[in-house]
Amino acid sequence: MRIPLQLWLPLLSFDFLGGPSFRDLQRAQEEWKGEHRIWLLPEAPAVIRWACQIGPYSFHEMAVQSETFNVLSVIHVDDEGNCFPSAGDLLLESWEGRLPADLLMQWLNQKFFITPGKKKIKINVPDISGRKVKYKQRTIKLSPGPSLRISQLTDDGKFKMAWPDGKSELARSVNPEEEIRDYRGLPEWEATSEGDFPLAIDAEGMRSLSVWLIGSSPFDKMFPSGLSLNDVHQQSAMKSVAMRNDVTNAKRWLQQMTTVASTTLEASYLAPVVEARGSEAALCIASNKLITSYGSIRSLQDLAKHEDYPKVFLSPVKIRRCFGWLGYFWWELNQLLEKREMVTCELCGNLIFGKIGKRFCGKAENPNCYHSRRAADVSRNRRRAIDRRDGLRGEK
Ligand SMILES: [Zn+2]
Repeated sequence: MRIPLQLWLPLLSFDFLGGPSFRDLQRAQEEWKGEHRIWLLPEAPAVIRWACQIGPYSFHEMAVQSETFNVLSVIHVDDEGNCFPSAGDLLLESWEGRLPADLLMQWLNQKFFITPGKKKIKINVPDISGRKVKYKQRTIKLSPGPSLRISQLTDDGKFKMAWPDGKSELARSVNPEEEIRDYRGLPEWEATSEGDFPLAIDAEGMRSLSVWLIGSSPFDKMFPSGLSLNDVHQQSAMKSVAMRNDVTNAKRWLQQMTTVASTTLEASYLAPVVEARGSEAALCIASNKLITSYGSIRSLQDLAKHEDYPKVFLSPVKIRRCFGWLGYFWWELNQLLEKREMVTCELCGNLIFGKIGKRFCGKAENPNCYHSRRAADVSRNRRRAIDRRDGLRGEK
């Protein structure tokens, strides 16, 4: 059995490599005691924990005083991809609680488009001023984020943006969000806007259009406030690592974007099994682990009362904590690189995994490419059959 995963998924764009959000991540990790949701709240007076009951489960939350506002969902994933909690803001309903096996391939072949940036969003935020935690809708102001300058403009209205933007003294980028922040500072909002696009202005007085980079489904839901420059930068790093089967750099990224941490078997294993396969299956597995006969434990309540339960299910076990979806993708890529070679499809150029010698997309990798190739095969076979028939006639 592979080591279970624990995903820490941010609701809003998050820099896991540096800056204030990275420090907030350290604060949250220091305080985390198994909560399912972590609120990074600048106004939190101290660390606050609370829980509510959802069906058979108690759902635990924590608020930590932070420099930036964000919400992290903690999702446990067992060795078959079953998630607990199995539903939430950042998981698609159509997944039915299980991460799709081809999510990494979808990500690597994903293209992004731009939509107007947003100055604020509305979120239900815990109000922890009194003794009871209540949720209140609040408007969260968003920063325009680091700005990229247009480095090339063509007559047909296309433009190119790059970082570093042609400045030879700048080293190759490793964390564009932080580099731009350090080099140029963060822009402020302008009161005016350009059509649908809000405008931002930086310290040097340069105006820029604020845009969000959005992926198509499922990435629009997985990254609800769009992709950050770091996300896109890492996607291209991932592609290059994959194309070169560069295990060394894949491991280096894995060390940056994940960590080995600990949790309980109850959280990392039992809860996803209960969610995915029901309590019967979980009881059967649990009885084996407790070395007790299956019939003697009839319910999850019985199980929790078993004398060996704390020793087996509540002692710490190792898990791999993945920071954001990118952390998860780096982990998946490392798994795949250990086993298989990566190639590009000869027809559409998508990255595909497969045995050596595989040349084209499968149905799951790119349905359009697969179907058009099959259609071409069918018409070629038909043509061959006709040629053969005509050939036979010709012989007569
Ligand atoms: Zn293809």
